[in-house]
Amino acid sequence: MDRGDGRSANKSLKEYSPGHCRRCGVKLSADEAAMTKKLINRGTTVYYCIDCLAEMFDVRRKDIEEKIIYYKRMGCTLFQ
Ligand SMILES: [Zn+2]
Repeated sequence: MDRGDGRSANKSLKEYSPGHCRRCGVKLSADEAAMTKKLINRGTTVYYCIDCLAEMFDVRRKDIEEKIIYYKRMGCTLFQ
């Protein structure tokens, strides 16, 4: 099925998987997935790493990391 034609076989190599950043492909932690939900929306099906989130929202990586700590402290259900 995957090797049915060259184009889809090639594409499947770079196909998005939910455990990886949609933008750069890096493997994501649970915190990064949770932060994506927090910043984009709860129902999102695409996820981004901290670096890409920081770039997209024009903030520093550290700001995102601090937010993760903050939400965890608040007991946010996304970060459990
Ligand atoms: Zn990324």
